Amino acid sequence: MSDIIIIGAGIAGLSSAYYLRKQGHQVRILDKGSITGNCSYGNAGMIVPSHFVPLATPGMVQQGIRWMFNSKSPFYVRPSINGNLIDWGLKFMRHANNQHVARSAEPLRDLSLLSKKLFGDLAMEPDFEFELRNKGILAFYKTEKAAEEEAHLVKEALALGLDMAILNVEECKALQPKLNLDVLGAAHYRCDGHLYPPALMNALIRHLESNGVAIFRNHEVTDVLRDGRKITGVMARGVKWTADQYVLAAGAWSPALAKMTGMKVSIMPGKGYSFMEAEPEQRMSIPALLCEARVAITPMDGQIRYGGTMELDKINDRINQQRVLGIIESVPKYFTDLKPRLPLREKIWYGFRPSSPDGLPYIGHSRKMDNFIIATGHGMMGLSLGPATGLLVSQLVSAQKTEIDITAFSPSRFN
Ligand SMILES: Cc1cc2nc3c(=O)[nH]c(=O)nc-3n(C[C@H](O)[C@H](O)[C@H](O)COP(=O)(O)OP(=O)(O)OC[C@H]3O[C@@H](n4cnc5c(N)ncnc54)[C@H](O)[C@@H]3O)c2cc1C
Repeated sequence: MSDIIIIGAGIAGLSSAYYLRKQGHQVRILDKGSITGNCSYGNAGMIVPSHFVPLATPGMVQQGIRWMFNSKSPFYVRPSINGNLIDWGLKFMRHANNQHVARSAEPLRDLSLLSKKLFGDLAMEPDFEFELRNKGILAFYKTEKAAEEEAHLVKEALALGLDMAILNVEECKALQPKLNLDVLGAAHYRCDGHLYPPALMNALIRHLESNGVAIFRNHEVTDVLRDGRKITGVMARGVKWTADQYVLAAGAWSPALAKMTGMKVSIMPGKGYSFMEAEPEQRMSIPALLCEARVAITPMDGQIRYGGTMELDKINDRINQQRVLGIIESVPKYFTDLKPRLPLREKIWYGFRPSSPDGLPYIGHSRKMDNFIIATGHGMMGLSLGPATGLLVSQLVSAQKTEIDITAFSPSRFN
């Protein structure tokens, strides 16, 4: 059995630790923060096999440019002479085509379905109550254009064997009877599910810590030491930490750490916001996506979580209230009696999606280092893909055949 150090205690790091420990490995996790502030806590909690289309799609570049001129739009790129952004943007544009979308569908589907199955297994374990629900997601639309896009998506999904359907207004109302709807219809992503992310994260942490995994909070990895093709240690708090194998699961912060090993991992932080609002009436039972507004609404913990926006910029602490307002103003356009209020600043959560330019995660061995595994770049689907990523990492560490083909997720695909 090996001694493993994982850098990062988000869902990718914790899930890796879970499966590695299950195989009997010795596992330590180093995280630069208190963990509860990472991207894996405040997300919309959606499990999304429906998301087999990467962000880089034909038309997305033009749409993105149009959105840049609207302060409340769901997508924004801060123009800057930032080498990483330019490099990322060029790669994104190169992949925004039908061939890439078609090539990515099966690998993403397989990864998602594996993860969904593993979530089911996890929920059966004692002390793993995280509100896992399998009611699907309703993707509501108000315009003919979005209706056509969803109809096309559903057709493709059915061809991939995923359970989805187009619903008319009456069918939508039957599924969401306690809320007034002002929509043309919805796609019901029946293959999807949802959960309460903090409950999942806390259950994983509790389980790991009581099963011999040491999690070191406030231990930022500041250097990676190497000798030829081998990592010989990492530095945290001025101390050298050594292991047989190292896993990079540092989310949006991963590129800087990968660079220390001489490796380039293209990721931009895609900042998004969310907030919770009380919902004592429990009117929403199925999570919703608002197609045109790109907003996610999920019932969880007896409340509702509203989330959205994607700002590509350097990692920063700014809260752009205009974008939060964009989320708030979009909701009553679909649900006439849901009227979220602008929360206090300190109640607005934000996180950084580790977004790869082609919309596929990086899961695999580093080409440069023999004892270094990359598990990041999951973008908008990191929660959903967590367990599958963790299982695959454990199989890579143990030199086992991976559960699914991971060629499409190669960390060196751009090198
Ligand atoms: C608004 C919003 C809604 C979302 N909704 C969904 C959803 O519904 N479904 C879904 O699947 N996904 C969703 N996501 C995306 C998902 O949250 C992320 O993809 C996922 O949380 C990324 O997990 P991670 O483990 O890779 O990174 P993180 O959770 O960010 O964890 C990375 C960890 O690495 C640590 N770290 C960084 N640098 C260092 C260092 N040098 N040394 C030590 N530790 C370090 C950080 O402190 C952090 O704890 C959403 C994201 C946002 C913003």
